[in-house]
Amino acid sequence: MKRITFLGLGIMGAAMARRLLDRGFEVTVWNRNASRAEPLVKAGARRAATPADGARGADAVIAMLADDDASRSVWTGESGALAAMDRGALAIDSGTLTVAWMRELGALAQARGVSFLDAPVTGSKPQAEQGALRFLVGGDAAAAERAAPLFATMGREHVHVGPAGSGALLKLINNFMCGVQLASLGEAIAMAQRSGLDIRRTADVLAAGSPGSPIVKMVVERMVTRDYTPNFLVPLMVKDLTYVIDTFAAAGIELADARAARERFIEASAAGFQDRDIAAVVEPLRND
Ligand code: NAP
Repeated sequence: MKRITFLGLGIMGAAMARRLLDRGFEVTVWNRNASRAEPLVKAGARRAATPADGARGADAVIAMLADDDASRSVWTGESGALAAMDRGALAIDSGTLTVAWMRELGALAQARGVSFLDAPVTGSKPQAEQGALRFLVGGDAAAAERAAPLFATMGREHVHVGPAGSGALLKLINNFMCGVQLASLGEAIAMAQRSGLDIRRTADVLAAGSPGSPIVKMVVERMVTRDYTPNFLVPLMVKDLTYVIDTFAAAGIELADARAARERFIEASAAGFQDRDIAAVVEPLRND
């Protein structure tokens, strides 16, 4: 596990690739918008012309892309990574994607003699920068063991959940809880604002009390200061909740709360916050 290719250098991917580079791995990078690779190339990464170009000769290829469509095109589209990978190499997808696509990609990889892990992460930009992510890993246990040094470099823990798709499933369950909490937090802070309660005092009480989960504690600060510098973009939460709703529905659980939460994030996107942090979910609900 020396030569690592990283596909997708957005908020998360750039920080994860940087950790690998800084810790001595030979890192090759590719991003659709090539300018985003520039800082990593300056720091010593090799630039790949296409995902396939990057995948040739790599011990492991890691993708960190927005959604299923992006992942599908980068792994299996024209100049896709999978067909160019060496037999016995390891393919890892760390995006928040659907269980169905992760199982399909796992089967495609297996047919080519490539090991596959779905390994989405919990934690956000700061955890990616600090190497403090948690990887939720689906796939073969031996492949997860081989990938352990990579997970240990980019994260502080990896949890092997089960066969391919299990990591994706646990991640969607996780983000269901996060999305619903953040939509209700936005509603709560907007209620305080509209009623003339002191927002700082309200936020402190919520954060210190029973509703104060780690994500509420972290995001309420951004709502109070109205600082929506992106850590996690609003449309990605819409995507996550869409995958969540479909996944739960397939198991017979109709998620009225996730649907309502998704509407809040759709409203924030429509109100002009599509390039801003998920904390902006509060903005369309405020009246000041
Ligand atoms: P981001 O900053 O929006 O980056 C998205 C990446 O996907 C970019 O590299 C983008 O390339 C690429 N992309 C999008 N559509 C593409 C396409 N059709 N073909 C090729 N590349 C495409 O997102 P992020 O925050 O890094 O998140 C990446 C993944 O991790 C998502 O699945 C997200 O849900 C998940 N995640 C995010 C966080 C977080 O806190 N941010 C935490 C955990 C998990 P361009 O630069 O060319 O647009």
